[in-house]
Amino acid sequence: LFIAFEGGDGVGKSTQVELLAEHLRGQGRDVVVTREPGDSRIGPQVRSIVLDGGELDERAEALLFAADRADHVAALIKPALQRGAVVITDRYTDSSVAYQGAGRALGTAEVAALSDFATQGLRPHLTVLLDLDAAERRRRMLALGQFDRIEREPDQLHENVRRAFLELAASAPERYLVVDATRPPEDIATDVAAAVDKVMT
Ligand code: C5P
Repeated sequence: LFIAFEGGDGVGKSTQVELLAEHLRGQGRDVVVTREPGDSRIGPQVRSIVLDGGELDERAEALLFAADRADHVAALIKPALQRGAVVITDRYTDSSVAYQGAGRALGTAEVAALSDFATQGLRPHLTVLLDLDAAERRRRMLALGQFDRIEREPDQLHENVRRAFLELAASAPERYLVVDATRPPEDIATDVAAAVDKVMT
């Protein structure tokens, strides 16, 4: 079973990923937790170029995320799924469609096609979208006090990203759980666990 968590920055994805992993491990399942960009073999280099580097052409940025994802799927996600593990990823193709396709305005269809090439068409069984509006996102980012190259972009880009995530979810509601990220984390985790248990039965 393959589960993705998506959403903007500061929505609490990593907390929810951990809570779901705990829930599934409690059921005795083999669980692999991973993230993008970062957990492929080229992930650390891609992260440092894309997030901490200087100016970068938008298409080059999209291709770097896609390269990271291609290796992530081939070397980590597919082998884990083949041995029967549950794979939970913190970000996947929807992040590229939303950030590079809508946020950078490269085109959501183009970036979706690039993502399909990178993943060989592998899609999550369930995507959990943690949704947060721009004002609350900004408040949380300021509280954290650190911004990477993309987080520093204007609110308008992040509004476009949010809208694109919601459109993806609306286009295939049976494969998404959309959650209001302002709710208490424990409540969100309960709903996520219930949705995942349902997919597994
Ligand atoms: O989730 P995490 O904070 O590790 O993501 C790193 C950064 O990369 C975030 O600023 C996110 O907005 C950005 N990102 C992106 N396009 C992707 C994946 C992540 O712009 N496809």
